[in-house]
Amino acid sequence: MFSMNLILLGPPGAGKGTQAKIIMDKYGIPQISTGDMLREAVAKGTELGKKAKKYMTEGKLVPDEIVIGIVKERLKQKDCEKGFILDGFPRTLAQAEALDRIMGEMGKKIDAVINVNVPEEEVVKRIAYRRTCKNCGAIYHLIYNPPKRPGICDKCGGELYQREDDKEETVRERYRVYKKNTEPLIEYYKKKGILFDVDGTKDIEGVKREVLDILSKLSHP
Ligand code: ADP
Ligand code: ADP
Ligand code: ZN
Repeated sequence: MFSMNLILLGPPGAGKGTQAKIIMDKYGIPQISTGDMLREAVAKGTELGKKAKKYMTEGKLVPDEIVIGIVKERLKQKDCEKGFILDGFPRTLAQAEALDRIMGEMGKKIDAVINVNVPEEEVVKRIAYRRTCKNCGAIYHLIYNPPKRPGICDKCGGELYQREDDKEETVRERYRVYKKNTEPLIEYYKKKGILFDVDGTKDIEGVKREVLDILSKLSHP
């Protein structure tokens, strides 16, 4: 049966969240962002949030078993039946292997991994000007994708804020973590024959075209 079970891979600030929302709107499949789920847990002060907070503030990875547990629960929900977009997961080899096990148990598979390529200096520029809606999670950029009214979300009127971990120093640490722990996944998925590269340095529209082109070939091979 046709399914669209996707992974968005790439360094922090590559534009994964931005493209995930575009795919979600076009194909009606949910975005599963482990970063968003963890930030929500931190904001609510849950047990999970208390455990994750220190790692996130320092730009380190939250331990695998915690993140794998939340993704496993999320993938069982009904809205994932027709497909899903994993954004920010997996980030380590252990997470990728756990995902394969979970998929196997559910009788599913990952159909495509979209690898968004962006160099470090561009990532730092993007994240410095990133603003996020507190209410709906919409993503803006003060220069490349500014809101119509400063500080206010176009979609819902919510307040825009800068993430605590979006300071330059923490971004550089997150980039190092990406290089060491996450970049090896490119090879992992290439070997499986499901990796698709996109040039993430294009503007949002340009990247969107590349991504939608890949997805249209998946659905009409
Ligand atoms: P970005 O895409 O800007 O790097 P995310 O919102 O995906 O940011 O992640 C923010 C933080 O949440 C990470 O720096 C890390 O601490 C934690 N996190 C998110 N996803 C994972 C994951 N799959 N494994 C471990 N930690 C994660
Ligand atoms: P990620 O989820 O990979 O961390 P985001 O989607 O949050 O990345 O994008 C990081 C920042 O860069 C945001 O401010 C976003 O508006 C901006 N951005 C995303 N894609 C592009 C692009 N192709 N060109 C320029 N800016 C972009
Ligand atoms: Zn909003």
